[in-house]
Amino acid sequence: MAHGDRRVLIVGGGPVGLLCAWILGRQGIAVRLFDNNDELQADPRAATTHPATLDLLGECGLADDMARVGLVAPIFQFWDRPSSRLVAQFDHSILAGETRHPFVVQCEQFKTSRLLLERLRTLPNVEILFGHEAVDVWQAADGVTVDVVAAGRSESHSGVYLIGADGGRSVVRKRSDISFEGFTWPERFIVLTTPFDFEANRGYSYRSYFAEPGAWCNCFKVSAEGPPGLWRTVFPTEPSQDDASLMSDAGVQARMQRFFPNDTPYDIVHRNLYVTHQRVASTFRKGRVLLAGDAAHVNNPIGGMGLNGGIQDAMNLAGKLTAVLLEGRSDRLLDLYDLQRRTVAIEFVQEQSIANKKRLEESDPATRQKNLDELTRIAANPERARQFLLRTSMIASQRRAEAMTLD
Ligand SMILES: Cc1cc2nc3c(=O)[nH]c(=O)nc-3n(C[C@H](O)[C@H](O)[C@H](O)COP(=O)(O)OP(=O)(O)OC[C@H]3O[C@@H](n4cnc5c(N)ncnc54)[C@H](O)[C@@H]3O)c2cc1C
Repeated sequence: MAHGDRRVLIVGGGPVGLLCAWILGRQGIAVRLFDNNDELQADPRAATTHPATLDLLGECGLADDMARVGLVAPIFQFWDRPSSRLVAQFDHSILAGETRHPFVVQCEQFKTSRLLLERLRTLPNVEILFGHEAVDVWQAADGVTVDVVAAGRSESHSGVYLIGADGGRSVVRKRSDISFEGFTWPERFIVLTTPFDFEANRGYSYRSYFAEPGAWCNCFKVSAEGPPGLWRTVFPTEPSQDDASLMSDAGVQARMQRFFPNDTPYDIVHRNLYVTHQRVASTFRKGRVLLAGDAAHVNNPIGGMGLNGGIQDAMNLAGKLTAVLLEGRSDRLLDLYDLQRRTVAIEFVQEQSIANKKRLEESDPATRQKNLDELTRIAANPERARQFLLRTSMIASQRRAEAMTLD
């Protein structure tokens, strides 16, 4: 490998790739990042950022910036949709002794990416190459090469490590022959965004989860481009329905009205449809290739844990890569990254996100009642509520990851 190739390559300019670039770049490490889009993606996906993630981002000032451009939400609620009954309400302030951020921040992921890109533009050692699509990956003992296509031309770029942060369909993962184990939900998830004020009209908190036999809804507020903000509703769709009917005006109005009956039609400002999976890569490290974010693990969005897990990967991985590259630490640290982050992806995020979905959509009347009663009891008991919030806010999983060591 040529001497000048001791840079870290990153494929993927979503929030996870950009955060890796920022953490490495601000230590003076040379970074080259490739993204196949011409600019940052703007689709409305992640918003909820949990206390454990905010604590990590607090160190680089990002948590405060995200709160400034987003919404601070200390409370979340569970509702029984058919009876319009508030089942349970949780207040993160009970975690004041456990975290510097006893609340979630609702910050749309394109804003987080924007904040990161602004920071990256100040670092001369970081190159951000939009319009560059990775198509292949090669490894040798002393380096790694990624083949990219840019403006119809093929190029090869070499580096000392390669981070695949290129999302759920990761080319880096596929070209590195790393399997992506798990399953795909038969139903797709539809996101309908409206200015209708669910707090003023219905008393819903900025993060509300609705249980309904055979269905569910997440309803949460984002600040959008400024007050009064927007409300996003997320629903499962019926596998038999085609895109045209799901996305039609009649289809989206029928869905909103069935779930949240209203005298007038809803103003729908965005509509998006997602295929959703529960999958974890068989390893997060293969030699000089490292996976992070959705390239490494994907889950359903109930509980808002996908990007949180990705940010936690990025902080963990970039910290360890810095120690290997600048402090001469053994590259076994990267095996520890795999152990820590893969373990919590499987034992915590997969398990919890699947359980969240099942709890909300349970259709057996007795089990359903038992589940909802249990939530009411947990919320009414401060110690049980604290334990519950330690899990939902990802503090418990972050502690578990940090406590793990190699033999
Ligand atoms: C409806 C919905 C709601 C969600 N809500 C939440 C939430 O509230 N909280 C939460 O934590 N998570 C949430 N998530 C999950 C979250 O959106 C993802 O976990 C997050 O986008 C992962 O970020 P990433 O940077 O790993 O990947 P991505 O955001 O997918 O970014 C990958 C980037 O890589 C680029 N790329 C892909 N292939 C190539 C290639 N071959 N060459 C170059 N570039 C490439 C892509 O264009 C993209 O820019 C939600 C997801 C959905 C669908």
